[in-house]
Amino acid sequence: DAAINRIAAGEVVERPASAVKELVENSLDAGARRIEVAYADGGKTLLRITDDGHGMRPEDLPLALARHATSKIDGTDLLNINSFGFRGEALASLGAVGRLTVTSRYAGHDGAAVAVAGGQIQPVRPAALRGGTVVELRDLFCATPARLKFLRTDRAEAQAIGDVVRRLAMAEPFTGFTLRDVTGGGDGRTVLRLDPENGDPQDALAARLARVIGRDFVENALQIDAERDGIALSGLAALPTYSRGSAVTQFLFVNGRPVRDKLLIGALRAAYSDVLSRDRHPAAALFIDCDPLQVDVNVHPAKAEVRFRDPWLVRGLIVSALRHALAEAGH
Ligand code: ADP
Ligand code: MG
Repeated sequence: DAAINRIAAGEVVERPASAVKELVENSLDAGARRIEVAYADGGKTLLRITDDGHGMRPEDLPLALARHATSKIDGTDLLNINSFGFRGEALASLGAVGRLTVTSRYAGHDGAAVAVAGGQIQPVRPAALRGGTVVELRDLFCATPARLKFLRTDRAEAQAIGDVVRRLAMAEPFTGFTLRDVTGGGDGRTVLRLDPENGDPQDALAARLARVIGRDFVENALQIDAERDGIALSGLAALPTYSRGSAVTQFLFVNGRPVRDKLLIGALRAAYSDVLSRDRHPAAALFIDCDPLQVDVNVHPAKAEVRFRDPWLVRGLIVSALRHALAEAGH
């Protein structure tokens, strides 16, 4: 019922930025090449995610909004997770914590929209759209004032939305991202614009990291490329002489998902322990890719934590690959 839905939803949606994460991941899962995130009042009154992905058929819309409806796994394959989404929880949760409308169009079909009001999925209606999907979430937590009170200032929430979009954008250099503050209506103000990068994956990644983290980081970083027992490590790690490193310039990804993980952060620190004093944090953007069966991404609904089947293997790989690269560069 509606109350239970609202409680469960709080697990997935803590603040506007967590809604943005779920919605942008859905757009990426739909193969989007351009994604726009618009927000008003720090996302508290409006979030609107527009993508050019494959969209949904009118008859699929109500199902997409229902709890535990996912088109991405078939139930026999729960551990073999390749897409971002796999719980079928996000849209249902968002419908429980705000006023949700989803408009979508699948090739060869008419556009359609569906809204959730008072926890009830409304009838599907025709809607004009050229393609892709638009998800609009208004008045987040309007039905749960207690949660609303825990949100921070509009500025802080907008900052958190920007962080989420930047992290996701780092892992998806071939997708363009636009972030717009539409507080007060109209076209608003463009906060971030990342055009889709071109070229081979390594060049595209370097170009994207230069835009998101900074050109000086990319120019003062070591290229990391290593593999051990089916676990691949790639990305960029700053030279010890690069001084702008802080805890907020450490970006870690597992199978394309941004993660915050103590094991990985600890490995990064350990790799630099001989060349960097303990109060300094090495800037890095590191990507771990492995068989989905080697890692559990199912630890927490917000999916920022992961659990490796063999944590010491991963730690060892990071420490040795980074130390090797540092030594090669004379550090
Ligand atoms: P999950 O992503 O875990 O499957 P969600 O609640 O996030 O669950 O989404 C439910 C379903 O709605 C997805 O499985 C997908 O089929 C559909 N969907 C959601 N967002 C989009 C989108 N932007 N484009 C196309 N389909 C979407
Ligand atoms: Mg999803």
